[in-house]
Amino acid sequence: MKLKAQKEIFTKSLENEYPVEEVHSFFFMLTEAFFKINRLNLALNPELEIDKSQIEKLESALAGLKNHEPIQHIIGETEFFGLTFKVDKNVLVPRPETEELVEWILEEFFEEESGRILDIGTGSGCIAISLAKNLPEAQISAIDISEAALVMAKTNAEINNVDINFIQEDILKTEALKGNWDVIVSNPPYVRELEKKEMHRNVLEYDPPTALYVKDENPLIFYEKITKLAKSSLNPSGKLYFEINQYLAEETEKMMQKYGFSTELRKDLFGNFRMLKGELR
Ligand code: GLN
Repeated sequence: MKLKAQKEIFTKSLENEYPVEEVHSFFFMLTEAFFKINRLNLALNPELEIDKSQIEKLESALAGLKNHEPIQHIIGETEFFGLTFKVDKNVLVPRPETEELVEWILEEFFEEESGRILDIGTGSGCIAISLAKNLPEAQISAIDISEAALVMAKTNAEINNVDINFIQEDILKTEALKGNWDVIVSNPPYVRELEKKEMHRNVLEYDPPTALYVKDENPLIFYEKITKLAKSSLNPSGKLYFEINQYLAEETEKMMQKYGFSTELRKDLFGNFRMLKGELR
């Protein structure tokens, strides 16, 4: 069968589910990941044939996409901060906004600096691992409540050849963090139940709920707990970085100030308040 014909099948089968450009982009993400064939290869060689086992792989991916399974789960990996991360249903698919949080930390933490960094709620490990890759002298630890997430994060640390101390812990039960830290960073669950109606099926049905949701009545539960813990375990010039809920930016900032932090908010690439930094001095 011609690859071009498969592309038409994809376009037809998914036309009611996704915009056509997105379908084409899914198609080429799959051909690239599965067969190392990209958009240009097909354009230059429009008669390109694929065999039976290749057709089967694409058909099974198509079934997943019809069910709104995330393309990253179908491929089994994704890119974050220029690095490859394995992902599955046990970890949140890394988001581009979170790359900007990593970028912010790297702007302020020098490459040659040695220091201690803690990532709370690491999931796939994307924040901790991209920091480790760019800060070879830093000592990095990462906490998650989920054992399955930590298995994935450890695999990702190996793939990317970095050394991270992973710890299984429920941060809501932690009384005090062990050790002192120069940077504490967290992208905790922050989506309220009431926001679910804005969300897509790929997120609602496939991302792990533990990584995403908080109760409408207490949406800052993780932020407040982590801020409290940070207050007594950050070094004097230490910094606390959060990814935050855009609708709760002001509340989150005020809460941090209540604990004595001076704060700075930043917008993400979509223009939403998405990041917050706190310092004690
Ligand atoms: N930004 C994520 C989303 O849109 C939420 C991440 C989180 O809850 N920490 O689904």
